[in-house]
Amino acid sequence: MFVSDNLSVNQKGNLTIGGVDTVDLAKKYGTPLYVMDEDQIRNDCHVFQKSMETYYDGQGLVCYASKAFSCKEIYRIMQSENMGIDVVSGGELYTAVQVGFDVSKACFHGNNKTTEELNMALDYHVGRIVVDNCYEMEQLNQLAAEKHVTAPILLRIKPGVDAHTHNFIRTGQIDSKFGFALETGEAYAAVKQVLSYANLDLRGLHCHIGSQILDTEGFEAAAEVMMTFIEKLKLELDYETQDLNLGGGFGIRYTKDDDPPSYDVYMKAVAKVIHDFCETHHLKRPFILIEPGRSISAPAGITLYTVGGKKVIPNIRTYVSIDGGMCDNPRYILYQSAYDALVANKAAQPKTETVTIAGKCCESGDLIGENMKIQPCEVGDIIAVCATGAYNYSMASNYNRLQKPAVVFVKEGEDRLAIKRETLDDLLRNDL
Ligand SMILES: *Cc1c(COP(=O)(O)O)cnc(C)c1O
Repeated sequence: MFVSDNLSVNQKGNLTIGGVDTVDLAKKYGTPLYVMDEDQIRNDCHVFQKSMETYYDGQGLVCYASKAFSCKEIYRIMQSENMGIDVVSGGELYTAVQVGFDVSKACFHGNNKTTEELNMALDYHVGRIVVDNCYEMEQLNQLAAEKHVTAPILLRIKPGVDAHTHNFIRTGQIDSKFGFALETGEAYAAVKQVLSYANLDLRGLHCHIGSQILDTEGFEAAAEVMMTFIEKLKLELDYETQDLNLGGGFGIRYTKDDDPPSYDVYMKAVAKVIHDFCETHHLKRPFILIEPGRSISAPAGITLYTVGGKKVIPNIRTYVSIDGGMCDNPRYILYQSAYDALVANKAAQPKTETVTIAGKCCESGDLIGENMKIQPCEVGDIIAVCATGAYNYSMASNYNRLQKPAVVFVKEGEDRLAIKRETLDDLLRNDL
């Protein structure tokens, strides 16, 4: 009935998440409101960890890519689940450190880490700094030398595999701002150069081929390409790669049209590529890291809004206006992303209306979706948009001086505030 398994309907006909009535949540905390289901998040962590155990003998680490949804509470949960994390900025790293996250299990990404961020990574002893370019490599070596430490690094490689939602292309893919290209020899030259630096410890390689990927072929192709490169490094440079980070990008179900394979299917396919390659080429199996972001936080989240207006344009469309929009969910305006929505206080009723859900920002493109199937809805109803736990709160803005919504976590019928709603004074905090 719903796109996510954690959603249900109670006797009042209201939508529930994690056993909590969403209409009660809207009353208690106001709208717009992000709601995150803690058990769903933990369960998805277990699914990844278990498949790593089953198909790769546990010789790997699952790192939550925290750019999908970053706040203190999610790092606490990741710490308690023994997960690794990815961070892409000093801000994410700082947040994790503030709750005592063990950042020896963190990967620090980014194509332009500032000097300040590199220093933070060294001072906090981040476990793996993923070096993107030669300039960064040189600078990091120097900063590490000044601190008399050796920086553990991975090199970000462009594997020449570019995965989209339903397929992948094996092309040059030299045109990416991230990492070192394989086919031009740039990646090979980078490895040689790192090995000459005294204060860098090259632990291995990283690649990431895209996001919301709904099949396994691209991942298998990338693993094959990376293993081939690992063999070349062994034969020609006598360099043994310890870590192979295969990135994230596992697709989720946003609407009934999405049919992602289970995580086991990905892991099994990729583990087989690596096993087989190592066997036939007499290589030691690398320790692998994977970096799911969306697939851990997206299905756990929903956003609740209140309907404030409805505009029927005969023979054209019906607009339903909500009290949020692109400020809390910019994914439609950025990528025309599809979502499933419903009227939370009429969740048991059939979806007989087709509406365009419009945000309240001064942009005509500020929509949650066009021509969405929904229960008959009127002013005062609560609309729930599903699977908004990733790339929503983390992409939120204050455009039009709107205040960022609160985030509530639910678990076993209980709710707790994790991030307060911004106040008007919060908007003025930095104004002089
Ligand atoms: C964004 C990103 C991820 C996570 O991608 P998802 O699609 O959210 O799983 C993982 N690794 C890197 C390097 C990324 O940039």
